[in-house]
Amino acid sequence: MTMKVLVPVKRVVDYNIKPRVAADGRGVETQGVKMSMNPFDEIALEEAIRLREKGHASSVVVVSIGPQAAQDTLRTAMAMGADQAILVRTDAALEPLAVANLLKVIVERENPGLVSMGKQAIDDDMNATGQILAAKLGWPQATFASQVKIHDGKAEVSREVDGGIEVVNVSLPAVITADLRLNEPRYASLPNIMKARKKPLETLDAESLGVDLTPRLKVVNVSEPPERQAGVIVETVDELVHKLKTEAKVL
Ligand code: AMP
Repeated sequence: MTMKVLVPVKRVVDYNIKPRVAADGRGVETQGVKMSMNPFDEIALEEAIRLREKGHASSVVVVSIGPQAAQDTLRTAMAMGADQAILVRTDAALEPLAVANLLKVIVERENPGLVSMGKQAIDDDMNATGQILAAKLGWPQATFASQVKIHDGKAEVSREVDGGIEVVNVSLPAVITADLRLNEPRYASLPNIMKARKKPLETLDAESLGVDLTPRLKVVNVSEPPERQAGVIVETVDELVHKLKTEAKVL
């Protein structure tokens, strides 16, 4: 069986950058900050490319919902091996419900046999979009995948749960969300970066897709975590016990 695989990829603050709270205290500063593909989406994309290489998929389509600059993320995805890309353009910061509703429109248009996506975006750590999308489509979902095997129109997915690995079988089409240990994404080679420039990238306007994008959540405040106090080195066990009793008051 061959199918199209759709991979939603989000442009986020690069994972090496220490996020700073934006001046308005309502989010994270993105101006002048290095942005990259969400690391879990790279993993989801790598898995989709491997499925195509193994003959389970006929093509890999990547979609990003975001500003014009998310084009760079889509070009990177095509340099890694995706065949074509769709940019759903919006300057608004959308929450998972709106993203899932937009993705549903793209799924209905592209008809994939599988949606392979990240378990969460590392900017706001929502961990919700895949689950909402599966529910909206009425498709099975297998979240936090650490292994995916395709056979007989089904996906056998190992998922990391508290205390071990759970194996679930889902019939396709389905939504699978990738966990960290699923694979190690490849780097884009220079010739593939050049080739990616010629691959098709379609741009749609988010407002034109007939989806309600009204925010339901209100961010009250975003603040830095409290700074850690410097520790002290105690000389003896007696001193430690004394401090635990008198200063930390945990004994
Ligand atoms: P979240 O629920 O926001 O933590 O995101 C989970 C996954 O949904 C991400 O790993 C992406 O695969 C996908 N996703 C979320 N936001 C977007 C977006 N703006 N564009 C494309 N994919 C997205």
